[in-house]
Amino acid sequence: MNAELRQHAARYVELLRRNGKKETWLPTGLARRLPAPSSSPTPSAPTSAPTRAIQPEAIARPAPAVTSPKPKNDFDLNSILQGVSGSKADKLAALRKKTDACKICPHLAKSRTQVVFGVGDPEAKLMFVGEAPGAEEDKQGEPFVGLAGKLLTKMITAMELSREQVYIANVLKCRPDMPANTSGNRKPTRTEMDTCLPYLRAQVAIIAPTVIVALGSTAVEGLFGPQKTTISRLRGTWMELDGVPVRPTFHPSYLLHNQDLALKRLVWTDLMAAMEKLSLPISEKQQGYFLKPAA
Ligand code: URA
Repeated sequence: MNAELRQHAARYVELLRRNGKKETWLPTGLARRLPAPSSSPTPSAPTSAPTRAIQPEAIARPAPAVTSPKPKNDFDLNSILQGVSGSKADKLAALRKKTDACKICPHLAKSRTQVVFGVGDPEAKLMFVGEAPGAEEDKQGEPFVGLAGKLLTKMITAMELSREQVYIANVLKCRPDMPANTSGNRKPTRTEMDTCLPYLRAQVAIIAPTVIVALGSTAVEGLFGPQKTTISRLRGTWMELDGVPVRPTFHPSYLLHNQDLALKRLVWTDLMAAMEKLSLPISEKQQGYFLKPAA
């Protein structure tokens, strides 16, 4: 390699290093012959002037990313609700009509059996938010009706409430599509959640619950965007969505896979915090749930 080219490569590598990048992609022979990282913050001056000046910024500029436009879901709730009576049930029905017809994610519109809008009391003070419908929910058109749903129903019963008294919905209204002949579920993508979130926020705006319980890290990410910390650290705290307090907790399917009593107690503590916000009575018996193994 000639001296001039070596100079340019050295300056490029210096730039990468200063930006915290490694030059491991360089052919090993070249990497070996390059100078060691300089301790100075500025690139070292070339020992011989290059015949054509190359700006380091120009060298280091990344290739333009190939981006596809993000699907937009910027509907106006007020225009959907125009002419709709004042009842929350009627407003939700109007929103449901709009959601049922949604084809903004063509792959999900194609793969879904139906849109899984949400279920429960339009006047509910307590709302549960999960991530996305699974196979059973896609089939039945109702959130949380599979195994995790059965556990959620038990959790609601432990609060001395029923599914009919609360409202249950997901960030994503369609089941995330799966490759043909595969079972199981996949995590919704960021784009899918961003695209669908306006429907959930419209549900929240109509229902105006006092408290939302967010079930699992994906639901939290769907509601608030990527988080710098884990659900283990977020649970036990309050977040806020459009002025509504949100209590993150573990997803029921996580509890199904981890039967640890202490974990159940943590979730129960979150549910008791939600009950407190709702001014619901908490009996002594309820306060003692999951402190010791059931006899
Ligand atoms: N898990 C979810 O997050 N939502 C459902 O509706 C079912 C399982």
